[in-house]
Amino acid sequence: MKKMKERVISVVQHLQSEKTLHNGVKMPYIGLGVYLMKEKEEAAEAITYALQYGYRSIDTAKIYQNEDVVGEAVRDSGIPREELFITTKVWNTDQGYDNTLKAFEESLNQLQMDYVDLYLIHWAVKDQYLDTWRALERLYDEKLVRAIGVCNFQIHHLEDLAAHSNEKPVINQIELHPRLTQEPLREYCQGQEIAVEAWSPLARARLLEEPSLVALGEKYGKSSAQIILRWHLQNGNIIIPKSVNKNRIRENAEIFDFELSMKDMSDINGLNMDERYGPHPDHFQFD
Ligand code: NDP
Repeated sequence: MKKMKERVISVVQHLQSEKTLHNGVKMPYIGLGVYLMKEKEEAAEAITYALQYGYRSIDTAKIYQNEDVVGEAVRDSGIPREELFITTKVWNTDQGYDNTLKAFEESLNQLQMDYVDLYLIHWAVKDQYLDTWRALERLYDEKLVRAIGVCNFQIHHLEDLAAHSNEKPVINQIELHPRLTQEPLREYCQGQEIAVEAWSPLARARLLEEPSLVALGEKYGKSSAQIILRWHLQNGNIIIPKSVNKNRIRENAEIFDFELSMKDMSDINGLNMDERYGPHPDHFQFD
């Protein structure tokens, strides 16, 4: 019983371990992603459970239509706001300077919060993302957000931003998993002190039957999902696996009690096929 309690305490401590972003703000390495949690009751239950278990970071977006649920679950949790790390994002149709400021206000209203920890540009909308970024810089100056960053930016977008802005993004949140390891982009971000955050870190559960990952799971006494998430951590990626299932929410956090060997890390890297399950950042077509 005592051992079990100690194990849970250790998981929670690790679960709350943080990466220091380049502006000094600390962000948990693991958060709960809440994309496709549209059904409010299900979302509320999952977020509440994750917070109770020890998660402190939630990744939402205006387009997910659940910022209100996130806000309510956070308030009901009784956890002091400053102990939590809340991310939301400005959607494509809200981009541009004035629209972004307005969209941010709407997000704050939905969340019922005074500030967010991290505000991200969701996709690099051509001819607009520079103006959108200026709005994010203003929100940062006004201390309505503790950090600002981007999603789905390619190296050319980041170079363009660097040439035309004052603040550097703290984070680039990108599709990243063993089938899409994004080496050049990760290397570029590392060189610029831009943290890399993996969306669809589990490749939306598509790789869980991959024989080599299953075999590694057997070797380490872990699930293939835990092998993938551990691979991310050892690569220094921030991760936001989504789950509405309590067992899986726990499972995704229990990845601190083993270490993949260098050979196994390199074998997982070898699964890369530059294969995207989401849209390409230079050719996305949704508004
Ligand atoms: P994930 O890679 O996190 O996979 C989620 C899927 O895997 C769900 O079907 C989930 O099912 C299942 N799953 C989760 N854990 C396990 C497990 N341990 N074993 C088996 N199956 C599991 O995909 P997402 O696309 O949701 O990405 C995560 C988050 O990234 C999103 O929720 C969102 O916050 C963010 N995101 C950002 C984007 C961007 O453009 N910036 C784009 C897409 C996502 P179940 O819920 O039933 O457990």
